[in-house]
Amino acid sequence: MSINLDLESIILPGISSERPLVMAGPCSAESEKQVLDTAHQLSKMGVKIFRAGIWKPRTRPNAFEGVGSVGLPWLKKVKEETGMYTATEVANAKHAYEAVKYGVDILWIGARTSANPFAVQEIADTLKGVEIPILVKNPVNPDLELWIGALERLNDAGLKKLGAIHRGFSTYDKSAYRNAPHWQIPIELRRRIPNLPIIVDPSHISGKRDLILDISQRAMDLNFDGLIIESHCNPDEAWSDASQQVTPDALKCILDRLVLRHSDVDKQHAATLEELRTQIDKYDDEILNIFEQRMKIAEKIGLFKKQNNVTILQSGRWDAILKKRTTMGLSKGLSEDFVNKIFSAIHQESINHQTRVMNEE
Ligand code: PEP
Ligand code: MN
Repeated sequence: MSINLDLESIILPGISSERPLVMAGPCSAESEKQVLDTAHQLSKMGVKIFRAGIWKPRTRPNAFEGVGSVGLPWLKKVKEETGMYTATEVANAKHAYEAVKYGVDILWIGARTSANPFAVQEIADTLKGVEIPILVKNPVNPDLELWIGALERLNDAGLKKLGAIHRGFSTYDKSAYRNAPHWQIPIELRRRIPNLPIIVDPSHISGKRDLILDISQRAMDLNFDGLIIESHCNPDEAWSDASQQVTPDALKCILDRLVLRHSDVDKQHAATLEELRTQIDKYDDEILNIFEQRMKIAEKIGLFKKQNNVTILQSGRWDAILKKRTTMGLSKGLSEDFVNKIFSAIHQESINHQTRVMNEE
């Protein structure tokens, strides 16, 4: 079911509605000089929205926690000197109040704050009646309802210029990414709230500057609306998130290399796509019919096990299935992860059917 939020466009005057909407700037505002140097370089290459963290939620104490309110006049200067819009993160009512007081144009709620309904509510209450775009980053944990809940709290307070930022999700396991993208979550957010702009944050997803182009391209291929990318005039010396920041020149190369595709297919090619989709639909029908048949057999097995008083789970058999199907899947160009997920789901469904049969009177 889709959710109806009362939304207005977040696009500010003077910003074209063409994709992608680009926000760029340092992870943290460090000094007036660093902020202005970076902003001037970004402005020269056409960036219209400048981001900089003033208050930084850090995982461990004694790390740099942002310059705080002294940095707000620097953002004001960015506006005055370059004409760019400014954006910063707010994590509580005081931040929201101060940022608005100093004329920050766009606020975002960080991942750790989105995970905290009390903090989001406090920010929503403080901003009641203020016409300011607010972007909500996904919570650190892969919980779509919590993400939507934060958006609803703001919308219920009358805030209509809302957008989401997809910055990936924390994981315990080591992976190529700093925060796993789990693209199916922002895709589902789009399905649930179709008119909500979604901006992708390749910097915090990747944690590494080398991956930013690939993730940005992925975001564009999935038809998301914009990109927020960390850019610093001297990235290696950055006080936070040094390894994922890029110079304004490197950002320009990334943006120039992006291939932008249309979201609609022109009439001439629509028929070809339609034909291919018909083929896909046919296979999807077949897959479900086969699952139905497979579960009928599972039920027969369940009955057999009941009559012979045998347990449902036979772990040796399950292990053999998984090994055999993973190898077969690889030979058919299917990833191990995909085959694993599909067969785990099939196995679980099969167990559910057997359990039902076994416990029927
Ligand atoms: C940031 O954008 O600098 C930031 C702290 O991001 P996140 O909330 O995604 O960790
Ligand atoms: Mn950062």
